[in-house]
This record gives sequence, C-alpha cells and structure tokens, in this order.
Amino acid sequence: MLGAHRIERLEPEHVERVYARLRKDGRKVSTVHQVHRTLRVALNEAVRRRHIERNPVVLVKTPPLVEKEIEPFTLEQAQQILEVARGWRNGARFAIALSLGLRQGEALGLRWSDLDNAAESLTIRRALQRQTWRHGCDNPHKCGIRYHKESCRPNCVSHARACPKREGGGLVVSEVKTRAGRRVLNVPARLLTALDEHWVTQDAERTTAGTVWEEGGWMFAQPTGRPLDPRADHENWKKLLNAAGVREARLHDARHTAATMLLVLGVPARAVMDVMGWSSASMAHRYQHVPDALRQRIADQMGCLLWGSSTDDGEEDDGQAGVPAG
Ligand SMILES: [Zn+2]
Ligand SMILES: [Zn+2]
Repeated sequence: MLGAHRIERLEPEHVERVYARLRKDGRKVSTVHQVHRTLRVALNEAVRRRHIERNPVVLVKTPPLVEKEIEPFTLEQAQQILEVARGWRNGARFAIALSLGLRQGEALGLRWSDLDNAAESLTIRRALQRQTWRHGCDNPHKCGIRYHKESCRPNCVSHARACPKREGGGLVVSEVKTRAGRRVLNVPARLLTALDEHWVTQDAERTTAGTVWEEGGWMFAQPTGRPLDPRADHENWKKLLNAAGVREARLHDARHTAATMLLVLGVPARAVMDVMGWSSASMAHRYQHVPDALRQRIADQMGCLLWGSSTDDGEEDDGQAGVPAG
C-alpha cells in the first residue's frame, strides 16, 4: 500500500494519507492502529539495518481511539424490557442479559445442563458465535474474482463466503478458555422462574416440532431445536425494544446495564469482574462515566432492583443479582 514511495523518501504525511484512506474505506480505528504498530516495528528494523536514518512512522498521527460510550438503560427502561420479555419468544434470554450481563455469544451458547436448579446457579463455559469464512482454496484472490470491486485492495483476498471450499465460518461453538470467562453465577429467584416458564414453552415447541426437532440441549433455540443465530437474536432484540417502547440500543447495552447496576449498588469491583467475566479491572473504570443522576436513581431503588418490589414470596432481589457463587 506504500508501494508508490521509496522507503527512504517516506514522509509521515504519506502514511497519514494512507491511514485516512483506510478510514474512508470503512476500516476500524483499531485496524489502523494495528497497521501503525506493524509499520512502526518494520521501519524500526529498517533503521537498525541502516536502510533508512530515521523512522518516519514515529511522527505519524493516528486517529484517536475513542471508546464507544457506555450507555446503560435506566432502571425504568430495564423494567419495561423485562415486562415485555415475559411473554416474548426466548424472552428469558434478554432477562439473562440484563440481570447477569452475559455476552451475546455466552447467552446463545447456554445449554440447559449449565443451569443448576438446586444451587440456583448458571455456569458459563462456552460461546456460540458466527465466524467469518476463510478461503479453503489455493488462490483466494482469483477465487473472489467475480466479487472484487474498485474499493477492494490490489491483491484482495476477501469474499471467502463465496469460496467453494470455504471453511471455519458459520455458527461456531467455542469453549470459554480464560479463567475470567469461565464462571459460575448466582441466578436471582425471579430469573429462575422466568427460565422455568421458558422451559415449559420450549417443551411445547419440541412436541410441536416432532421429528423435525434436533435435540442439542440449547436453552434458547429455534423452533427446530437448533441454536439461535446471533443475527436473528439481534433482530429479536430490536423488535423487543420496539415493543417495549425503549430507545434503540445495542445488545451490549444490556450487558452494560448489568455491570452498571452492580457497580452502582456498591458490589466490589473484584466481584463485578467475576460476574462480568472481565480479565482486568480497567473495564470497571470505563463505568465511572455513567451519569450521576442515573447512579443516584439506581441507588435509590436498590431495594426493588430489576423486577420491582415483589409482592409474593418476600424474597426480594437485594442487589445480590449475579454475585458469583462460592
Ligand atoms: Zn475483492
Ligand atoms: Zn477461495
């Protein structure tokens, strides 16, 4: 991509222009930073070998890495979502997101065997994700010939989706490998009830599906028993928000909401890390920007948390939602 410039004539401005073009082509800021690091290392090596006197890349300005702002729901919004989720197909999946903060892949990867009804706990051990395809052929550039556009890079090797020998893509189940990721969560009583109801609904679907049903033990499944596709799940989420009259939001905002509530409720950062499956405490710092007004509101209402002050069993969720077992 820097081919037009001889290495010794390379100026920071040239590199900056390349970065600007990458951004214009829709590349992520993080990708530009990755290119930047690679280039800096490569040219440092060129300096070391005396091909050039100085490394122009060290002077290059990179686009700022602005972290996406965290936008948790207000307690009222979360309650509205839960209300609608109760009668919604696979709605319990969103109750899990809001109360336990599971990542999308983790929630979709749940099997009924991960739920321990007696211990009232849920174990996170795998994730279901849609992976992008890789070429399995010998000549990826030629393979994608019908799909290259002007915006493609000179030796573009994309378009693996159309490769006749494509591999590694589609829905993939992966074991959660990190210690932080693998975790056991306490399930609030109200969520257990929601999951019980969900089980009954799913069992009826299983009966209806008959021989079409493919038993995978998935907690959240398609009407055929197969696991949910993350894309369909996302569509379902958008429809649910719409029905609940709540603003548009990323699925990840549900996770942010769970984390915010735990932090605002004064759960120690260490415990919140355990619940959320964060491997470092630095994530918790990102939550310090949550508006004070929102913090205050949540703190005020901590007695009734997500599911409101329950009138029935007197066993209210008292902020222990999701605090890890043991
Ligand atoms: Zn292409
Ligand atoms: Zn191919």
